Amino acid sequence: MEVIQSFTIDHTCLNPGIYVSRIDKGFTTFDLRITAPNREPAVAPAAMHSLEHLMATWFRNSSAKDDVVYVGPMGCMTGMYVIMTGNYTVEDMRSLTIECLEWVLKQKEVPATTPATCGNYLLHDLPMCQWESRRYLDRLRNDFHSEYTPLQVSLPDGKVFADA
Ligand SMILES: [Zn+2]
Repeated sequence: MEVIQSFTIDHTCLNPGIYVSRIDKGFTTFDLRITAPNREPAVAPAAMHSLEHLMATWFRNSSAKDDVVYVGPMGCMTGMYVIMTGNYTVEDMRSLTIECLEWVLKQKEVPATTPATCGNYLLHDLPMCQWESRRYLDRLRNDFHSEYTPLQVSLPDGKVFADA
């Protein structure tokens, strides 16, 4: 099995921001990194779940809605994936995400939180979701990062390679 691309990024020096992790067949995967992995607490599952409902709702109603393929959380709970078609840059995604988070902060409830519309409808936490959103919004505005550092992988023969 080959090491997949997202495991070749050095997570120990990764800062919150927005990164392009892959471009394949016209689809761009944006990594919306909300917390610093392993150096800050990850987003709590209930807050991340609420953020997923809110961000997916916003993106699928936004000016970019026709190009939105997928919005969903990372398994490590430190960020959100947004997959787009079309030609979107990190700066485009930064503007969209800022607009999205401003909307999230104004919401009084999480959409689609009934047993019929959600697979775990009690696992939601809007106040904590908005706390994370406020901090991420501040970081996107004032301390933005978008360059991944490739992981230096040592091979058994002593050679080193960096797969980007
Ligand atoms: Zn749900």
